[in-house]
Amino acid sequence: MHERRSAFIAIAALLVTGVAAAPATAERAHAAPAPGAAQCKLPAATDDLGSGFPVDDQALPAVGTLDAAMLFVDFEDYPAPRGSLLKAESNLRSGVEYLENVSGGALDIEVTNSDGWVRMPEPSTSYPFERGLSYEDHVRYIGDAIEAADADFDFSDTDVVWVVATEEAESISYSPTTNHLDVTADGNHLTHAVTFGYDQWRWGGLVLAHETGHSLGLPDLYLFEAPEDDPENWHAAVGGWDLMGLISGQAPEFLAWHRWQLGWLADRQVVCAPLDARTTATIVPVEESTTGRPTADAMVVLPVSETRAVVVENRQAIGYDREILTSGALVHTVDTGVRTGHGPIQVVDATPGSADALDDAPFQPGTSWTEPSTGAVLTFEEARGNGLRVTIDPGA
Ligand SMILES: [Zn+2]
Repeated sequence: MHERRSAFIAIAALLVTGVAAAPATAERAHAAPAPGAAQCKLPAATDDLGSGFPVDDQALPAVGTLDAAMLFVDFEDYPAPRGSLLKAESNLRSGVEYLENVSGGALDIEVTNSDGWVRMPEPSTSYPFERGLSYEDHVRYIGDAIEAADADFDFSDTDVVWVVATEEAESISYSPTTNHLDVTADGNHLTHAVTFGYDQWRWGGLVLAHETGHSLGLPDLYLFEAPEDDPENWHAAVGGWDLMGLISGQAPEFLAWHRWQLGWLADRQVVCAPLDARTTATIVPVEESTTGRPTADAMVVLPVSETRAVVVENRQAIGYDREILTSGALVHTVDTGVRTGHGPIQVVDATPGSADALDDAPFQPGTSWTEPSTGAVLTFEEARGNGLRVTIDPGA
């Protein structure tokens, strides 16, 4: 979840009933050289978090050192029990490890903890997390935590403030992010913050990686409002194929597209396919694309309009994806005109109607799929060493 300054976005938000019609596809001359990766960096076409380039201008850099101030807070109505600090620290640590691992070391997170529990000035129930928390309410909560900690904490190098509530305070019920904080402490203008509320005990540490994804500019891929014909399926767009979709999903590694947006996947690892000529590429598993094999091709992108592209990546049961049941070619569409929570990325299901929803979405070697708007035919074949061979033939 991520909130804007003016309109706080809760779990449910307005339903987008229609997406702007795609502009006409750019003409490409025959026999032109294959486009470079830059031509597949579809420009951002929404003023909120989305899937275009560059990521939102409020985003923190995803390459380099991120200084995080982790403030553990408790309340007069719910004092933290003796010995509970260690449990709170360790619950979120795996999220920091996830980001450092999946980035292949590109992102280094330096966490500075508060010296023990910081007592908030108001009782936990005065903060309306369960009563329609507004942007102003959230900023008051974060601001109170910063002020309460400030005497013993140096915020002068802080990039992001993480406020972790004691597990006792169930009314701090969920974990919103803001990229529009406006608090100055120790001479530093603080703009980014995340609350870690009671739901962190359900999600585990990956909630920290998801919320930090927003701090770095990534959108939510679950749907703020479920489809009309499937009214409880908030995961109809990408299922569990990306951490920004479903934290507890079977495949919580970031999509290759997200790695590219963050600057973790290099341009040379992106095969940008033209609409008018055959493209063949062999791509490595996404899970190794930014770690063990950071120079190998990792994603094939076929732009079909100025804001839309079809993307193929190779998902295997390794890394944080080790629980996945169906590996293979994960095909999805990206639309940079669609904002966070409204389906900027949609996975194509190779087995529509199956009982496993999108968990078995990948296409298997030996199969193919026709992209409906252009008629381009995508064919998938096995390659050595967990590789996936992708061929794209122009539509007739
Ligand atoms: Zn989110």
